[in-house]
Amino acid sequence: MINKVTFQLVQVALPVPLRKTFDYLVPSEETLNESWVGCRVRVPFGRREQVGVVLAIGTESSIDADKLKYITEKLDDSPVINKALLELGRWMAQFYLHPIGEVFATMLPTALRKGQAATLPDIEILEKRFSNSQELAQTLSNAKRQLALCNELDYTSVPLSQAKARYSSAVVKGLIEKGLAEVQLTSNKGIAAWPERLHIAAPMRANVEQSIAISAVNEASGFATFLLEGVTGSGKTEVYLQVIEPVLRRGRQVLILVPEIGLTPQTVARFEKRFGDIVGVMHSGLNDAQRLSVWQQAIANQVGIIIGTRSSIFTPMLTPGMIIVDEEHDESFKQQDKLKYHARDIAVYRAKQLNVPLIMGSATPSLETLCNAFSKKYHHLQLTERAASATMPAQMLLNITGQHLQYGIAPGLLDKMKVQLQQGNQVIVFVHRRGFAPALICHQCGHVETCIDCDNPYTVHKVTNNMQCHRCAQHKPIVQKCSQCGNTSLDTFGLGTEQIEQGLQALFPDYSCVRIDSDSTRGKNKLTNLLEQINRGEHQILIGTQILSKGHHFENVTMAVIVNADGALFSADFRAPEKLGQLITQLSGRAGRANKPGEVWLQTHQPQHPLLQDLVQNGFADYARTLLLEREHANLPPYQHQILLRAESAHVFLLNPFLDYAQGLLSQFAKLKMIGPLPCGIEKKQGRYRFMLIVQSTSRQYLHGAMQNALEALESHPNSPKIRWSIDVAPLDFT
Ligand code: ADP
Ligand code: ZN
Repeated sequence: MINKVTFQLVQVALPVPLRKTFDYLVPSEETLNESWVGCRVRVPFGRREQVGVVLAIGTESSIDADKLKYITEKLDDSPVINKALLELGRWMAQFYLHPIGEVFATMLPTALRKGQAATLPDIEILEKRFSNSQELAQTLSNAKRQLALCNELDYTSVPLSQAKARYSSAVVKGLIEKGLAEVQLTSNKGIAAWPERLHIAAPMRANVEQSIAISAVNEASGFATFLLEGVTGSGKTEVYLQVIEPVLRRGRQVLILVPEIGLTPQTVARFEKRFGDIVGVMHSGLNDAQRLSVWQQAIANQVGIIIGTRSSIFTPMLTPGMIIVDEEHDESFKQQDKLKYHARDIAVYRAKQLNVPLIMGSATPSLETLCNAFSKKYHHLQLTERAASATMPAQMLLNITGQHLQYGIAPGLLDKMKVQLQQGNQVIVFVHRRGFAPALICHQCGHVETCIDCDNPYTVHKVTNNMQCHRCAQHKPIVQKCSQCGNTSLDTFGLGTEQIEQGLQALFPDYSCVRIDSDSTRGKNKLTNLLEQINRGEHQILIGTQILSKGHHFENVTMAVIVNADGALFSADFRAPEKLGQLITQLSGRAGRANKPGEVWLQTHQPQHPLLQDLVQNGFADYARTLLLEREHANLPPYQHQILLRAESAHVFLLNPFLDYAQGLLSQFAKLKMIGPLPCGIEKKQGRYRFMLIVQSTSRQYLHGAMQNALEALESHPNSPKIRWSIDVAPLDFT
């Protein structure tokens, strides 16, 4: 008889693209118990070591005993992934049909993923050095902000990052240079729990619509989802501030998600002004240590409000009380690579799991969320008017058919711009493309300079004297001769932000043009600085792409021009009209915010198009309802659920057999509809061809069941290891 040996085993999720967990042995001198679950371990994997999360403990493995390896070390004394996050991770792996180890790696801050200690690190704080108040008043008589900070330091030291966020780096630097303050390291453990730092300032007097919204949320006990649909400037942020007040008073934490671009010092300052120094901020500009620090402050109850971008949805809280997703329609909430999760979906799961209210706010809600509000799954709250005295801008269509455009703009609009500028107002010009021109074409032979890796015309950038491929970011100096025929008469084709900036600057030499696009705002604080210049009135003509349409308050903008709206009406992407409506409405939100009425002009060749008419005459709320009807008739999301199977390879012949096989597997499920295989929106990128299969069903469960079923077979298809393929659940991007 064989002696049955029992082992101490842990089941570990490792950040590898395999849909399974891995068993490891735990040395007998360690006491293995349930408290290991959620802790990180370092383990040998192949020829390397990996950091993984323990998902379960046990005594028996399906792997042969002699093949099992020991863990190298246990990294945590207590779990970094708590029960709630553990459950969330398991759910995500199922919902997104994604390898579980990569799911947990996505949830952890980078520093923890790399195996760094999870104890609270020291933080830098700013402390006062000097205290003779008379002398101080003299030294700082011309520096009010420095004086204010100095006075604050009289009472308490302030974390350096917070001092910089609230007063600016320059103010902090000024104080330090004058020898009035200094930076000290202190142990994070010393920081008091946030309720001790809570100082609630008086709220604004809510208007009727705001009051209705606020009391509706206040009455919710436990999980409930609210859509706060409020036109731009209607005071949504004030509603957030007022509904979180009682939550904070009860000692509960609030998690607020904002789009990448919406996380400005001004946003953070509004919450700190109302509630004091209890805000932890998480965004992509932080380094690993800073992110980890906020994560830990959240779980240690040292911050009461966490404001962050997409991945902050994974922040563990000690006393969760509410979740808010601001600008819920924003596409930055969806991660487009690796684990293609949508932070909005995760927010719903977490709010339910934690039994707390969830508020999603937007002036231009996604059709997905609107549909849930109409079906009463979400409570629908509406703010239909601007809160301050400002009126909504008028939206108008301008027929440009047959008009002689100058730098893309109709002469009539140039005249109107001039009038606005002469009155001391600012004007926004929205352009879809950045760069100087989207193509360089040979006058002699018609050849277009193209990136061969992507089959994509190079965009000309005159500012940097480069041609760049906007798919793979490859760039090189602008060619002087056609690479096909050698002729030197090359011409640019189409209009980008750079060219319109140059042109308008020449047309309006008395005013300053500024360009806001991903080229001009690259680099730390670049965007913030440009926005500050705009608000100080240093520029009058603001030319930009998407970035310009989001969340900024420009008090003096009275006119906005959208150079071309037609692309979206004839796009292959069924969401293009939704995005166009959001863009126009958000852009309108930038105009006429203060006391001056605004106007928004939409240049089009299709002024009679029913969708455009609906949008400008009835506004986004009505337009979105029309779009929803169209989606329903066309059997598209949100009335259908979709999964996208995407395959990429340098060898195009490998792709179709794989996707055809997938289609064959899935065709056994009678209630699925399949589209494809067909080329992706971007057919070639960085030397790889790209094909997709879209699978859809009215039942999410049915769709997931079918896909789950097909997965194993797909993984053993002979082409599977030779190509890159991925699953995108509820895809937004078909390129
Ligand atoms: P949103 O978040 O919907 O864009 P905000 O909350 O930023 O709107 O409010 C827009 C402007 O209206 C802000 O300047 C804000 O201070 C002001 N505001 C909001 N609510 C009120 C109110 N109840 N009374 C007066 N002004 C308000
Ligand atoms: Zn390229």
